[in-house]
Amino acid sequence: MKDERRLILHPSSFILKLVTIMGLFDKFKKKTEQPASAGSADTAVAAPQPEAEQVEPAPPEAPQPKLGLFGRLKQGLKKTTQLLKTDIRDLFKKEGRLVDDGFLEEVRVILIRTDMGPVGTEQIVGQIATDFRARVVQMADIKDIIGRQLKQLMAQDAAPLRMAAEGPTVIMVAGVNGSGKTTSIAKLARMFTAEGKRVVLGAGDTFRAAAVEQLTIWSQRLGVEIITAPQGSDPASVAHRAVTAAVEQGADVCIIDTAGRLQTQQNLMNELSKIHRVIGKKIPDAPHEVLLVLDATGGQNGISQARGFAQAVNCTGLILAKLDGTAKGGVIVPIRQQFQLPVKFVGTGETPEDFAPFQPDAFVDAMLADWEEPAA
Ligand code: GDP
Ligand code: MG
Repeated sequence: MKDERRLILHPSSFILKLVTIMGLFDKFKKKTEQPASAGSADTAVAAPQPEAEQVEPAPPEAPQPKLGLFGRLKQGLKKTTQLLKTDIRDLFKKEGRLVDDGFLEEVRVILIRTDMGPVGTEQIVGQIATDFRARVVQMADIKDIIGRQLKQLMAQDAAPLRMAAEGPTVIMVAGVNGSGKTTSIAKLARMFTAEGKRVVLGAGDTFRAAAVEQLTIWSQRLGVEIITAPQGSDPASVAHRAVTAAVEQGADVCIIDTAGRLQTQQNLMNELSKIHRVIGKKIPDAPHEVLLVLDATGGQNGISQARGFAQAVNCTGLILAKLDGTAKGGVIVPIRQQFQLPVKFVGTGETPEDFAPFQPDAFVDAMLADWEEPAA
């Protein structure tokens, strides 16, 4: 409703946004060579700028240089790494430090700032005390303990996406508004198309017109099919149509976007369960995954917000988006402890490439990488 009113009352700002998007999009096209999406991309300009609250959901203008998986993780964890390494290095202005209560308290304060929570922090500080109390430690010793403990704290069983044995795999994506759902869907879609899989998207966030348009732009850029409906339509019917299209077209993956806010939380939860049910009627085993997107920049606050979701919609895994925007990368620790759900992916930027499967060891290694280099 809100979006619609805005569009009607402010036609000039709508046109302005449209022109801005067209400009951005032209630049994007010039700077990238994306043969897969080039054919259909020209129609993308007809969509207005999505959702004002979160500003700029449209993709950035220029692609970033290609990074490997570890490079992307490192890039995404830069702020967390910087915080940890600067602060821990400051502890070691003198060669070696005596491990006493004062030193342990200093380490505790640093760890807490990464949002790893009290349990994780105490485990690490406790291990430092056990191994080194009353002895002199070097920075490398502390880094070593932090790394080993973090790997333990973040540990989880391997959590690959559950794919359908036959027919399309259906993935439903949920989370509060602005958490990064739509962007994460674009990232998933890109990942699948890069594997040669055929993808159909379902624009199930029909509560906001802008949300449908945002996903439509992504589908055109990525060259994947999308099923939409006008604002206010029943999202379960969009989901049903998307799954039906995926089956009929022999697609490999169908990804369903959902609303992050409705008139009431109860309405939202009811709607999400209905979408879940409808998908399950079409394909008995589906949805094969229900991924809950959490915004890492909210740190531990986001966790409590998301708990309701996780309970209401039978989530099967988490995506932690926007890691790059925060020094709170330690938040994976409380997430691992408070959710009985594996973290499946992390979002490390705004482009579809900025996405990595979550693997605790690689994650911690990236977080503690390049420690010896001077702080920027
Ligand atoms: P939704 O409302 O849950 O669908 O959230 P969106 O996907 O629209 O994302 C909200 C905002 O967060 C947009 O501006 C996105 O570009 C941005 N965003 C999403 N994921 C990431 C990420 O991993 N890193 C950064 N820096 N921004 C992100
Ligand atoms: Mg969205």
